[in-house]
Amino acid sequence: MKFDYLIVGAGFAGSVLAERLARNAQQRVLLVERRNHIGGNAYDHYDDAGILVHKYGPHIFHTNSKQIFDYLSQFTTWRKYEHRVLASVDGRLVPIPINLDTINELYGTNLSAHQIAGFLESRAESRPKISTSEDVVLSKVGRELYEKFFRGYTRKQWGLDPSDLDASVTARVPVRTNRDTRYFTDCYQSMPRHGYTRLFENLLDHKNINILLNADYREVKSAISYDRLIFTGPIDEYFDYQFGELPYRSLRFQHETLDRPIFQPAPVVNYPNEHAFTRITEMKYLTGQEHSKTSIIYEYPEATGDPYYPIPRPANAELYQRYSEAARAVRNVYFVGRLATYRYYNMDQVVGAALTLYNKLAASHVSRPVSPQNNGARELAAAV
Ligand code: FAD
Ligand code: UDP
Repeated sequence: MKFDYLIVGAGFAGSVLAERLARNAQQRVLLVERRNHIGGNAYDHYDDAGILVHKYGPHIFHTNSKQIFDYLSQFTTWRKYEHRVLASVDGRLVPIPINLDTINELYGTNLSAHQIAGFLESRAESRPKISTSEDVVLSKVGRELYEKFFRGYTRKQWGLDPSDLDASVTARVPVRTNRDTRYFTDCYQSMPRHGYTRLFENLLDHKNINILLNADYREVKSAISYDRLIFTGPIDEYFDYQFGELPYRSLRFQHETLDRPIFQPAPVVNYPNEHAFTRITEMKYLTGQEHSKTSIIYEYPEATGDPYYPIPRPANAELYQRYSEAARAVRNVYFVGRLATYRYYNMDQVVGAALTLYNKLAASHVSRPVSPQNNGARELAAAV
């Protein structure tokens, strides 16, 4: 059988495109995934104790895009969830992002929002240009808070000093003078009520979508006949590393189930200055599940292993540019997602990029007659 599309990778990028192409454009899709499950890094499952855990670290959904939220809402209902994080600093657990309470708790003061703004201003270092992750933090809070909250965490997480990373990395974490302790301020903040894997099962539940698990594209490609390829794996791997390996940062996730109902006072506790791990996540906070036991995840950054994070710094951007140019030169092959476009994307950004690519591809399709059983799905999808 010949497929209209071969899609490599069943994460958000590949699965959203499979759904749109199959359901909305009646294309025949083969989705190949080298892992033994769908969902990419957002995959979740019930552990031995029956607690829903995120296999590849905590995934919290947040977006400012109504279009993206409405699109995903076709495949899941939601549970409202606003994420909160504490950082272990100077023997205390204080809120991160740094806010009014962080400063008052750390220094034993009782400053107002106005005074906190002055406090930070008096410590902030003026930088001629904000190019690196060090510049971003020093220019907002000064050296002492930078060293307490950011330098150690960043060195651990990336194996690099913040001065060697693009500004965009630490700029993900704001600094506030109010008492907002939420990690994100997006207008939509919710978790899929029955988990991410269920969301993916619903996305991919269509007769035009065929799924091949435990299948590496490099091993199966010659046996498959298709018109177009969508690739969501690492772009350097696609091109056989012809310009050299793009650096990705990896993590080792250590999952533990504890025989007690609660472990820590917040969903995530960050450890900027102690331990080899960066943070501990307690899953039940994220999912709202009730259980007499609790499951936690330690994240240990590693130089080698599965590629989880592109590393934003100028030398890597230059190398990626070479791959990106090679990608533009191949016909009927499309690169999308966090690994294939080497971008430190959140889930919603990947969904957005996939929907944008779909619109581009859909414009080029020759229309195909719609079978009666497809009509309902088409009407549903037309709402997007
Ligand atoms: P992936 O999910 O990586 O999917 C790509 C898939 O392609 C993988 O399943 C891979 O096995 C497969 N693949 C690769 N090469 C091949 C091949 N040759 N053959 C077959 N299959 C192949 N985002 C948020 O919005 N909120 C969060 O809280 C959040 N937390 C995160 C925490 C961690 C620890 C990590 C690592 C990421 C987090 N993210 C978060 C980001 C989120 O995981 C990504 O934005 C999203 O999952 C990327 O989707 P994707 O489809 O681009 O890639
Ligand atoms: N960061 C830090 N200290 C913290 C939290 C974050 O230094 O307590 C820095 C660190 O470099 C991290 C980046 O900010 O990699 C982005 O943090 P985020 O929580 O967004 O990371 P992710 O959830 O994507 O791993």
